[in-house]
Amino acid sequence: MNHQKSFLPYPSNGIRLLKGSFIFPEVLTIAFQDSCFPERAPFFQEYIRGALGMEVVLGDESNNPVLLVNEKNDVLDEEGYLLEVTPVGCTLASGSWRGIFTGLQTYIQLAKSNKTLQCCKISDYPALSWRGLMLDVARSFCPLEELLGIIDTMALYKLNVLHWHVSDDQGWRFPVDGYPALLSEKHGYYSKEEISYVVSYAENRNIMVVPEVDMPGHMIAALSAYPNLSCTGGPFTIPTGEGIFRDILCVGKSETIVFAKKVVDTLCLLFPSPYIHLGGDEIPLDRWETCPDCQHRMQELGCRDEKALLGWFCNEIASYAREKGKSTILWSDYVDASYDSTIITQVWNPLLGKHRRTHSDRQVIKSDYFHSYLDMSYALVPLSRVYRYGKTVQKDTKRNKKVVGAELLLWTEYLDTREKREAHLYPRLLAGAESFWTKDPLLRYSRFKRSLEHVMKQVLGKQSGLPEPSSWDPLLLVQCKERRARRKRVNRNSKEAGITL
Ligand SMILES: [Zn+2]
Repeated sequence: MNHQKSFLPYPSNGIRLLKGSFIFPEVLTIAFQDSCFPERAPFFQEYIRGALGMEVVLGDESNNPVLLVNEKNDVLDEEGYLLEVTPVGCTLASGSWRGIFTGLQTYIQLAKSNKTLQCCKISDYPALSWRGLMLDVARSFCPLEELLGIIDTMALYKLNVLHWHVSDDQGWRFPVDGYPALLSEKHGYYSKEEISYVVSYAENRNIMVVPEVDMPGHMIAALSAYPNLSCTGGPFTIPTGEGIFRDILCVGKSETIVFAKKVVDTLCLLFPSPYIHLGGDEIPLDRWETCPDCQHRMQELGCRDEKALLGWFCNEIASYAREKGKSTILWSDYVDASYDSTIITQVWNPLLGKHRRTHSDRQVIKSDYFHSYLDMSYALVPLSRVYRYGKTVQKDTKRNKKVVGAELLLWTEYLDTREKREAHLYPRLLAGAESFWTKDPLLRYSRFKRSLEHVMKQVLGKQSGLPEPSSWDPLLLVQCKERRARRKRVNRNSKEAGITL
């Protein structure tokens, strides 16, 4: 009956233990009070059946249900919930389906922990409203089955945003009408039907899918199919491995603006999320300096330099997206006061723009290179560091209300197999998930480690390639040495992109 070990993330208000106990029957009867959430009931039933592997029947509140779901509007946070275990059964209450779903994860963890539960009350809500994972499927394609498995794991640990990086220099993974050559059977892509399936699969699990198409840089895959969209006309070869490449979209050509807007149209059609991510990072500007079309566009617009042209392009596309009801997210690299104030920034390199004036009206998502890059080795980004990151961001939200949350990032230049991706994701995904959800006073790494070992055996045990616990937190000496190497790499990448630190 050790409740403490059962929860991951740990509830933000802790657990109030009560007298008495509850014994799980062989068959689970669930009921929805006053027929609340009618359209979700069949999914809810099926989800519990799958998670607990037991018979689940739908009843009504007069049948003494083992689990009673209640729509209760005084639960303040949209994802907050109340879960109560009494000797006769459990009640799960929230004002929204999102809260019911997050509470359901806690219920499932409890149900899996023991057949006999000590009675308790849990009142829980998230510390951060944006709790994401960025998955790069452009550098290495992630097959659908694996992707759905990642969504399942995100749902279990209450992450709520899948930031889906669907194009980059190394690959283009979704169809755009009128541009069939973007796709390659050999390298893999998702059909429109598959994307819709992923979006609704995630939505059912309280996960919003935010697509990212990085522009005007990180475009070699598109330029190799349509070299007319570049400044030089190509030809281009799709690269492998990491790097920042000089060839980017030629924003002086009207056909490029048509293409960029068509991409936005497609994202709007395929993804119901109110947000789209348009990248905007690591953009070497030297092709534009010598391109007659780009120079002509600059003259026409009265741009003083290529950076101003970049600002114009980003504002133009963000404004087009806004007309279609979407808020644009950009990596923070180049965003300054000339960028539309509704653009949300995502910070990957906290050293960039360190001395730049902060714009208090701009929303911010945190995903610090030093804490949240899960493609790094455990020596570079150990488990404890990922866990600490949520604490830091929670402090940031107190200082700046515009910080909406944080993401963990999995770039895949070198993670070309499922085994490698899983070894890098787990268990660090769970450290981030708890530190993004659980309120700071209750974030305790020692308790998290105990829960984690329990969970890794029970839930993730079947996955292959998971790292051994001994490698989760490597020696400090190794960290110091590799940290210096990593800092060098950030500086080099930034310099190559023409970014001044
Ligand atoms: Zn150009």
